[in-house]
Amino acid sequence: MWRIIVLWTVIMGLATSDMVSYEGYKVFTIYPSVDKQLKLLQMSMKQYSSWFWKQPSTLDKEVQVMIPPSQLQTFYEVVHVTNTPLKLEINNVQKLIKNTIPENQSQGFDFQNYHTLEEIYEYLEELAKKYPNKVQVVVGGKTYEGRQIKGVKITNHENSPGIFIEGGIHAREWISPATAMYILHQLLTSTNSKVKFVADYYNWFIFPIFNPDGYAFTFNKTHGDRLWIKSRKPYSPNCIGANLNRNWDFQWNTSGVNNNPCSDIFPGSKAFSEIEMKTMSEYIKSVNDQLYAYIAFHSYGQHLMIPYGYTNAHISNYDHLHNISLKGIEALRQKYNTVYDTGCIGELFTNLPSGISVDYMAGVLNKSVVYLYELRDKHEYGFLLSPEYIIPTGEETLDSLVAMFNELYHLDYAKNN
Ligand SMILES: [Zn+2]
Repeated sequence: MWRIIVLWTVIMGLATSDMVSYEGYKVFTIYPSVDKQLKLLQMSMKQYSSWFWKQPSTLDKEVQVMIPPSQLQTFYEVVHVTNTPLKLEINNVQKLIKNTIPENQSQGFDFQNYHTLEEIYEYLEELAKKYPNKVQVVVGGKTYEGRQIKGVKITNHENSPGIFIEGGIHAREWISPATAMYILHQLLTSTNSKVKFVADYYNWFIFPIFNPDGYAFTFNKTHGDRLWIKSRKPYSPNCIGANLNRNWDFQWNTSGVNNNPCSDIFPGSKAFSEIEMKTMSEYIKSVNDQLYAYIAFHSYGQHLMIPYGYTNAHISNYDHLHNISLKGIEALRQKYNTVYDTGCIGELFTNLPSGISVDYMAGVLNKSVVYLYELRDKHEYGFLLSPEYIIPTGEETLDSLVAMFNELYHLDYAKNN
């Protein structure tokens, strides 16, 4: 009898093991105003990089940090002693996590909820069936755990310029795949004449999830972690994954990374050490001559940015790209008064992230139109944007893309005629 009880306890123990809990974790916005405060933050960043939602960069640039309940007392003491200005932003991270996770298996695809990898892939197949003449499902790459990296190609005319959309390279940024899916849906269904123009003039390559293993892990209710960011290849028993947006073979490992494999900004053991980015880069290279532009979606912070990340020196066509992005953020603001800023990544993120996908597109594949969005929001939700904002975020982001690609079309047309 006791054996059965022991076995039962073990089984129940396994069955009730749960996602990583962030019960009682708090997120603070910190405003370092003197050097001493900034230095302290930068030192803590080296040791506790996964606690930093927004990394320390320069004086008066806000930092966001998540503090576990066990460290709150020490945190308050340090803040007090150093007289650091701060604001409590999220009182209980777990509560916001719960709010982002759909309670029931959804009935069909919608934009009121975040969706699992399987639901997203199923919807891609559905769209290909519905629009067989122009939508094609493409497997662009594969993952460490054996998943496929799927996207769609919308072909309007064989030789039309192609726009590539990258989503979900960072697992926890759920608004990124959700926005890519919203835009895909609008490109196929919108009746708005401006949307229809860009939808039909360009070809589109849309890959909503560049990091399927990581994304699936953020949904895994038995042993997952909603705040996971990296891939899932183990580097040691306790340190899993590399940051896929530090793993590209251009200026790899030169700045803005941490070579401790436990860090969230670990760039991998070498450029393209992660099969996800190796295979996707080969796919993108194979269609490079069909591509006109490359757009990557991240969250959060509300920035529309121009390469490069590894340096704050301006790319050769910076002024052109900046004029276009100014039109983009102006259009984005119209519907909900959502305020973005624009500039080069290396200027806005002064830690100079290197080995990032958009730098590779500009620096190696010579794409002249390359942008990176940090989508909503600014402070309140961070990576845990409430699902009621999926549609507004999708709408305003599409508005900005439509404005930018309309403008680019007219400029190119004027140049060629
Ligand atoms: Zn990101």
